[in-house]
Amino acid sequence: MRLTMLFLSSILLLSGCRQQGYDRQSLIALGTVCTIQLPAGTNPKVYDQVQKAIDTVDGELSRTKDSSQIAILNKEKQAVLSDDVLALLEEGIEVAEKTDGAFDPAIGALTDMWAIATDHPRVPSEEEIRGADTNWRHIRIAGNLVTIPSNMEIDLGAIGKGYAADRIKKTLWENGITSALVNLGGNIYAIGEKQGGDPWVIGLRDPNGSEGQAFITIQVRDLSLVTSGAYERNFTQDGVTYHHILDRKSGYPAESDLSSASIIGPSSTLCDALSTSVFVLGSEKGMELVESLSGYACVLVKKDGTILFSHGFPYPYQLVKHVSG
Ligand code: ADP
Ligand code: MG
Repeated sequence: MRLTMLFLSSILLLSGCRQQGYDRQSLIALGTVCTIQLPAGTNPKVYDQVQKAIDTVDGELSRTKDSSQIAILNKEKQAVLSDDVLALLEEGIEVAEKTDGAFDPAIGALTDMWAIATDHPRVPSEEEIRGADTNWRHIRIAGNLVTIPSNMEIDLGAIGKGYAADRIKKTLWENGITSALVNLGGNIYAIGEKQGGDPWVIGLRDPNGSEGQAFITIQVRDLSLVTSGAYERNFTQDGVTYHHILDRKSGYPAESDLSSASIIGPSSTLCDALSTSVFVLGSEKGMELVESLSGYACVLVKKDGTILFSHGFPYPYQLVKHVSG
């Protein structure tokens, strides 16, 4: 199904506010609201190209579209993946190795049983949790043929929006657009700089505030900013709130000292993988990971409201709101 580009002017997203001199269009895709801002007067065909790029990613990775490569792999437990999807899975596996499974592309069987993104989320039994294989080392790759165990499912949801943002940037460059703001449900790519040469000013959401409330604004040029937080999707049962980022070690939602993890860097795919990883790892190990990667920086918000910046944080910023603990 081809999604129609919708004008959703009533939806106010962080950095989704229309920038002067830019046109904005939004669509619902990748399980979220995607907002694209391009210089005013840009040929409408470019928006079509962007939509095509998003649809392609959805068509490759979606777990709910039967025809997607990932859906086929999960159903048949074997599939020949395209070079792009294979490279993404391999990048996910690499991050899993680096984070000792805090990020896990093989976490799908667990995400399925918690069903947090659906209308019927639930707390699975210990037996169910133990029955799921989430060990990414059990993924077999031979050329483009990928084979997984019968009790494993691949879930690239924690890296997919970043991958889509990188694809959109490539599409825009191919169309000669080098200044644009892409926001895929909070997964941002501030492409180039603003027309006129100013940097983009991007707000990061206060994890304890409501949608649209930033606690900090950061000036960047040609960088992606991706945030993971427990507020994104969750449900409450018997007074306990369960969120959508899971820890394969416990089988439960990750319990670290963080409320949110924001990563800034050139690859939106890696920023996306890192934001999920750091959220699971917590402030100490998460900071160590980001600081080991050249070109990447982070802003972490701890549960007690403390804000932490990676060493030598290189971007001008302004704190605009106190974060409560
Ligand atoms: P969001 O999708 O809200 O931006 P993330 O990028 O952190 O947040 O991705 C969360 C999604 O990734 C979950 O909805 C689930 O599909 C999947 N996921 C959950 N826990 C993990 C994990 N530890 N490693 C990899 N993927 C995960
Ligand atoms: Mg992520």
